[in-house]
Amino acid sequence: MSDLVQVSGLAKSFGDHMVLKDIALRVPAGSVTVVLGPSGSGKTTLLRALNALEIPDSGTVRIADVEVDFSKITPGRGGRVPKQQARLLARYRAQSGMVFQSHNLFPHRTVLQNLTEGPVVVQKRPTAEATAAARELLAKVGLADQADKHPFQLSGGQQQRVGIARALALRPELLLFDEPTSALDPELVGDVLGVMRDLAQEGRTMIVVTHEVRFAQQVADQVLFIDGGSVVESGPPSQVIADPQQERTRTFLRRIL
Ligand code: ADP
Repeated sequence: MSDLVQVSGLAKSFGDHMVLKDIALRVPAGSVTVVLGPSGSGKTTLLRALNALEIPDSGTVRIADVEVDFSKITPGRGGRVPKQQARLLARYRAQSGMVFQSHNLFPHRTVLQNLTEGPVVVQKRPTAEATAAARELLAKVGLADQADKHPFQLSGGQQQRVGIARALALRPELLLFDEPTSALDPELVGDVLGVMRDLAQEGRTMIVVTHEVRFAQQVADQVLFIDGGSVVESGPPSQVIADPQQERTRTFLRRIL
């Protein structure tokens, strides 16, 4: 299988705190990568860097056919970059869709409008086509009958499934999930993980930050354990989770299992 994502030498500091150090990663098309690691190890920053919500200091990332060498991206004051770099970053950002820990839905829009806003306003797709696609996505995440509600009328799990559908509505090549179930009541976690399992089965390429080790064991093709901003260990779950080679990985797993 060819790699949809190739990362090399990715680094990011906040002040003098180096949060990502020389990260390398390959994600085959159609595979699921789960990122495990202690709090503060850099997992969220890695996802935000992959989506260029955070501009890395250096390193190269290719997602599908868009490659960015971040050492050549030069944000000025307020994070602004020159026009040509901004165009490249916009194309790069469009390759991935992010699902956040808390869904970040527009509170004053209906569920359906939350899904059509990006495709219509940003991608300039016809409203009728975007609406039809949004209804299909809502059916896929089990919320066909909630289209006209507002986010506050839904449970946390339903809101999160809308968040997933909204990311899918922009048709990204890669889906990034940042602890999608960690803000949910335990009884709502299963439905969200169920939707993610379905997406994996459909062959979507996904990178998932989560502490759900069982999900990782059952769904991940690759597990990345990061600590202190570095990849400590990576491989299939049968190796990294069931038979970790590094002491730091063993200590972490003992703590969360
Ligand atoms: P994780 O997701 O593994 O918990 P994060 O990527 O959120 O870790 O954070 C890694 C480190 O980077 C933490 O020490 C955090 O405080 C720091 N950090 C994250 N974002 C910022 C920021 N915008 N400014 C300064 N420090 C940050």
